[in-house]
Amino acid sequence: MWIEQVVNQETLDALDGAIKKWEQIVDGSQADGGIADCPLCVLLDTLCRTCPIAVQTGRRGCYGSPYTDWRGLNDDCEICENGYANCEPCNAAANKLIDWLRELRNHCSKEGS
Ligand SMILES: [Zn+2]
Repeated sequence: MWIEQVVNQETLDALDGAIKKWEQIVDGSQADGGIADCPLCVLLDTLCRTCPIAVQTGRRGCYGSPYTDWRGLNDDCEICENGYANCEPCNAAANKLIDWLRELRNHCSKEGS
C-alpha cells in the first residue's frame, strides 16, 4: 500500500494531532499514553492498516519508527515516570520522533495534493 492510498483530510488532521501530542510531551505538559491518546490510533483501526506511519515503515504498532526507541528508553528510564519525557535522553528521543512525524507529514502533503 502507498501513502497516497491512505491519506485523506481526516488522516492528515490526525497526523497533525499526533505531532501536537509529541510537542506537548517534549515541553513536559503531557505524557505519552500510547495508543489511548494517539489521534491516529484513535481514528484508525488497531491493525494499523490505513495508518500513514505503518505504511511508511511497512510494520504495525509503530515498529520501525523512532517510537520504538522512545518506548524502550522511556520504559526503562528511572527518572521519567508514566510516559513523561523529563530527562535529556527521553526528551531527545521524543524530539527525534517529532522530526520523523513532520517529515512524514510533508511527504503526505505532497502525495495527497
Ligand atoms: Zn527519561
